Amino acid sequence: MADGLESESRKLLGRLRDTMAEEAAGQERLDRIVALTADSMGTEVCSIYLFRDEETLELCATEGLKPEAVHQTRMRLGEGLVGRVARTGRAVNAADAPAEPGFRYMPETGEEIYSSFLGVPIQRLGEKLGVLVVQSKFKREFTADEIYALEVVAMVLAEMTELGAFVGEGAALKARHTQPVMLRGTTAQEGAAMGHVWLHEPRVVVTNVVSDDPEKERARLTQAVETLRVGVDEMLTQATDGSEALQVLEAYRMFANSKGWMRRMETDIGRGLSAEAAVEKEQSQARARMSEVSDAYLRDRLSDLDDLSNRLLRILTGQGKETGSEMPDDPILIARNIGPGELLEYGRRLKGIVLEEGSVGSHAAIVARALAIPLVIHAKRITNEALNGDRILVDGDQGIVHLRPEETVAGAFIDKLAMQAEAQKRYASIRDVVCVSGCGERIELNMNAGLMADLPSLESSGAEGVGLFRTELQFLVRQQMPKRTDLAALYARVLDAAKGKRVVFRTLDIGSDKVLPYMRRVEEPNPALGWRAIRVGLDKPGVMRMQVQALLRAANGRPLTIMFPFIAQYEEFRAAREEVDKAVARETKLGHVLPETIEIGAMLETPSLAYASKKLFDEVAFLSVGGNDLKQFFFAADRENELVRRRYDTLNVSFLTFLEHVVQRCAESGTKLSFCGEDAGRPVEALCFAAIGFRSLSMRPASVGPVKSLLMRSNLAAVKAAIHEARAEGEMSVRDRVMALLREG
Ligand code: PEP
Ligand code: MG
Repeated sequence: MADGLESESRKLLGRLRDTMAEEAAGQERLDRIVALTADSMGTEVCSIYLFRDEETLELCATEGLKPEAVHQTRMRLGEGLVGRVARTGRAVNAADAPAEPGFRYMPETGEEIYSSFLGVPIQRLGEKLGVLVVQSKFKREFTADEIYALEVVAMVLAEMTELGAFVGEGAALKARHTQPVMLRGTTAQEGAAMGHVWLHEPRVVVTNVVSDDPEKERARLTQAVETLRVGVDEMLTQATDGSEALQVLEAYRMFANSKGWMRRMETDIGRGLSAEAAVEKEQSQARARMSEVSDAYLRDRLSDLDDLSNRLLRILTGQGKETGSEMPDDPILIARNIGPGELLEYGRRLKGIVLEEGSVGSHAAIVARALAIPLVIHAKRITNEALNGDRILVDGDQGIVHLRPEETVAGAFIDKLAMQAEAQKRYASIRDVVCVSGCGERIELNMNAGLMADLPSLESSGAEGVGLFRTELQFLVRQQMPKRTDLAALYARVLDAAKGKRVVFRTLDIGSDKVLPYMRRVEEPNPALGWRAIRVGLDKPGVMRMQVQALLRAANGRPLTIMFPFIAQYEEFRAAREEVDKAVARETKLGHVLPETIEIGAMLETPSLAYASKKLFDEVAFLSVGGNDLKQFFFAADRENELVRRRYDTLNVSFLTFLEHVVQRCAESGTKLSFCGEDAGRPVEALCFAAIGFRSLSMRPASVGPVKSLLMRSNLAAVKAAIHEARAEGEMSVRDRVMALLREG
């Protein structure tokens, strides 16, 4: 870039900074900015449009258009050229604007006489705030340098908006971070919580956006990148294969060695930005791209760049994670995403969790579920909107978050909490009675677990045992492979805590979304259908052998129940059982005490197993339907993919017919059968499973009460009749009929 242009741009930013430093109300500042930008860019018009709400932009200041139009002219997202810039987040550069498709004529602004149009988005870290526009009479296309200069002005505006520089009398802008905000996300753990915001990663605040000493800023940037490099190198020395540190390092290598990244930031500094503003500009662009790309690999790389930028910003600003603020008594954790280990560190202190990303099947979600903490994921913008200490309501049932709620909303929410507390009392009153349906059928209700932290729930929920102990959670929350002695001690503690109640230990179920940080990651085109669970256990039996041995030792004379995950055919079950037989023989030889009894069962998670040979049904001690996986394979709908995962109702007639077939086969061979997927914890679903013949269900602890309460009030024969009627009538789902039956009471 020519030096002349660099100094022009610096001059503009310098003037901008001086304007910001002057005492002025918000509107006056905006007016000065449009005037000086038009002057510097040599255009007749410069206008600032800001979002009034998520869908509407408002002209908030202009140089060149009619002043009466200010705060009057509004447009919807996507409408006209300004709306297009706002929607796409990309610049529009048109020499002949009226000829552009979508051009909208706004008579009140008197803009028809301007032909050239350049609009750039005002956005901060991927959050759209408005649009900055210049227009001129002459038909001309703006140069790349001019676009760049306007983008930099837009960025300064975004930073200033964040800092509240435009709040004041006369300005349409409301103070940021003071208004109520309602965000709609996805529910990952039901329940309602009220509390105050605790940011997992406090936002870095950049206060010095502009600098007129590029040499100094470039030196600061170089120094910061060097510090980052040293930090990453240190991590490398401690990194093990596939660990987080290695991944960060790979990302670092990609970007730090990418000359483009450094060069772009240095150019920004040359144009008048401070080092941190230059980093943030790159970060902003990465976030904007992140919201557009659907390719998972690319998204991960952009997310790496985002993390790296954060590290760099913390180095440059000296703002660590420690902000000095105290965690509130009723913290609601806000994060872009979080790993299961980090979540466990917070533990039960948290009242609720809201994530910008995440997925329902992720391990953070499983941990949140185990701890019964309401969790909403995909709450876009939450990390931008929330400030430490803000009041916040989390409606995990609806997937809705109210930040800084109005009193009326808070009041309604408190009523909801009170109703839930009432229901809890009702569940507590039936906690110690066994579940017998309204028509006299005994249904066993167990709970799912995976952490030591789950076990106190065995008593408080009234569950009869642990129907699924997900052993992989213990592997996932560690930084290295646990040792056999550690595992044996842990399993022994689980059995101690169960006080004689049955615990079904599922052997390691890794692969697909469950990736151990210390194991080499195998890149697979389709991990859910890939090398996972028992397939890994049989191909690389070392870990499974170690685990089985730990289980045998933990039982130490007590009964032991083992379940193999993801068995798709009889031979896999036979081979896995042989591993147990061999381990028993080894233990006998070594003179160790054997379990009193050993029950060996399998999960039914693939449709194929429902049609396996009779040998399977005869030889397994029990089968447990893993509905989460089974459903995704039955409907060919990825359980992790938000676009399809809700498409097929569990109460779909085809699925229930399939489950009835499983019930039938187990009845023929006298095989014990249970259901342990998430659906078993949903009362209406649980009722339907019981109606078609399931007599054992395993669910998260918080569901035991609601499921028991409904089953005890219900007549299974009537529900079964409703299911069969729905099938006879060719209905897609039985839900409506069953709900109607429940309403009749
Ligand atoms: C299931 O697939 O239903 C199940 C219980 O296993 P997981 O959710 O751990 O895959
Ligand atoms: Mg499964």
